Amino acid sequence: MSKSVEPRIVIIGAGMAGILSVIRLREAGYTDFVVYEKSDRIGGTWRENTYPGIACDVPAHLYTYSFEPNPDWSSTFASGPEIQRYFEGVVEKYNVRPAIRFNEAVDVCEFIDGRWRIKTSTGRDDVADVVLAATGVLHHPFTADIPGLASFAGARFHSAQWDHSVDLKGKRVGVIGTGSTAIQITSALVDKVGRYDLFQRTAQWVMPIENVIYSDQDKHEFRTNPARLEALRVEASDYFRKFSNAVIDSESEEMREIEEACRLNLEQNVKDPVLREKLRPNYRAGCKRLIFSADFYDAIQHPNAHLVTDGIECIEPNGVRLKNGELRELDVLVVATGFRTDSFIRPAVVKGRHGVDLDDVWADHPTAYLSISIPQFPNFFMLNGPNGPVGNFSLILIAENQLNYILQLMEKIRDGSCREISAKDEASSSFENVRIEAAKKSIWATGCKSWYLDKNGVPASWPWSRDRFFEVMKKPELEAFELAS
Ligand code: NAP
Repeated sequence: MSKSVEPRIVIIGAGMAGILSVIRLREAGYTDFVVYEKSDRIGGTWRENTYPGIACDVPAHLYTYSFEPNPDWSSTFASGPEIQRYFEGVVEKYNVRPAIRFNEAVDVCEFIDGRWRIKTSTGRDDVADVVLAATGVLHHPFTADIPGLASFAGARFHSAQWDHSVDLKGKRVGVIGTGSTAIQITSALVDKVGRYDLFQRTAQWVMPIENVIYSDQDKHEFRTNPARLEALRVEASDYFRKFSNAVIDSESEEMREIEEACRLNLEQNVKDPVLREKLRPNYRAGCKRLIFSADFYDAIQHPNAHLVTDGIECIEPNGVRLKNGELRELDVLVVATGFRTDSFIRPAVVKGRHGVDLDDVWADHPTAYLSISIPQFPNFFMLNGPNGPVGNFSLILIAENQLNYILQLMEKIRDGSCREISAKDEASSSFENVRIEAAKKSIWATGCKSWYLDKNGVPASWPWSRDRFFEVMKKPELEAFELAS
């Protein structure tokens, strides 16, 4: 047995998972850790995305750290700024800030002679025994390569880089995309601009949801009666259990119920039959990430709104030229075309044992044993890494469970059982093969294009139940890991 060591830990990213890591590491008695954050503020996706209407479509009481319930959430679904404030409050309360080095991105992680050598954007060299990659999933904006985009003469920006200096009042605003982002922007902007064009390449199914506004009385009760707060969390959690069980089996009755709810939502709430058919997807609900919205159909029927379904030919200085020859003149163009979802920690260079490059290991598609550990990358652990339950339930719950698992692995290093831990090759590839087979049964594999699919068309997600995920995360199966001294 090796001597016990106090490992030095580098955490990458001060978003939801990085903040969580600091709190949990400290609780577990670790003292030597640092967070490198590329930006000047905490918050990750909630810091970056500030577009009008931004909200989380996971109920707020579920999108909350389990150890830090928030009786003050204003409604079932919290807005982006409210969530950012929550994380800032947690950072203050748990004194996380001193652990963070802001404006410092990790550029290189190389495993040399048993330790990770880190290079940051400020030129700093650091070393770590353990690296926790808490870099998130949706943080590299993807701007579609639409001909002429750069020639647009008005204001133009990606939804994740909203330019708040642009006054939209009375303007002709166009939004490209119909993902969760564009749908939220539509509901928020349609009555605040002069004219609103939504450029739809693919229609979306919309699940109706009710956004209950919590009264002061409700919040008082949540504050004074923790059981009521817990009941709310359990209720939201049960709903998500149903949802997460449905999506993994495209033939399940629950899935059919969700599809029926979406169909009725469309048919009962869109009056004009022509618009209704334009909004009707030609694939099954849930195949793409389902849109949860109470007001999108109202918004798109607003007199200002135009759903533009003729394909985009190119962008010109004055607007969007359609394939049918029409020019949709615009003052402002918002590109809501999503994110590069297979980047994870990259563009940082990550090299494991013997110089093995993560880019090469992930050349086909990103993989990791249980989304957490990669063979030949010892003591390098990911939170919300590849193929996790990203489409099924709250990312906070996922990160908490993964961290619990990682901390148990780290304990093996701290107590001197070993110096290096990484998933075994066989365990990792057999996990991936089984995962791929199971993913083919899920609703995401029923014939649509979406960011849930990897470049081979396989859903890049956890294809089993939420309960199974929680069960697996309880305790590492050490046979799946190589423990080296
Ligand atoms: P997205 O779901 O990837 O949607 C991108 C949209 O851009 C799609 O409608 C896509 O059309 C369209 N598009 C891409 N390239 C195009 C092109 N060349 N021409 C025309 N249209 C093009 O991105 P997102 O809406 O930003 O959402 C990403 C994820 O962020 C969500 O799925 C969700 O996980 C997360 N999110 C969550 C919330 C929340 O409430 N929790 C809110 C916003 C975002 P096609 O469908 O035809 O490809």
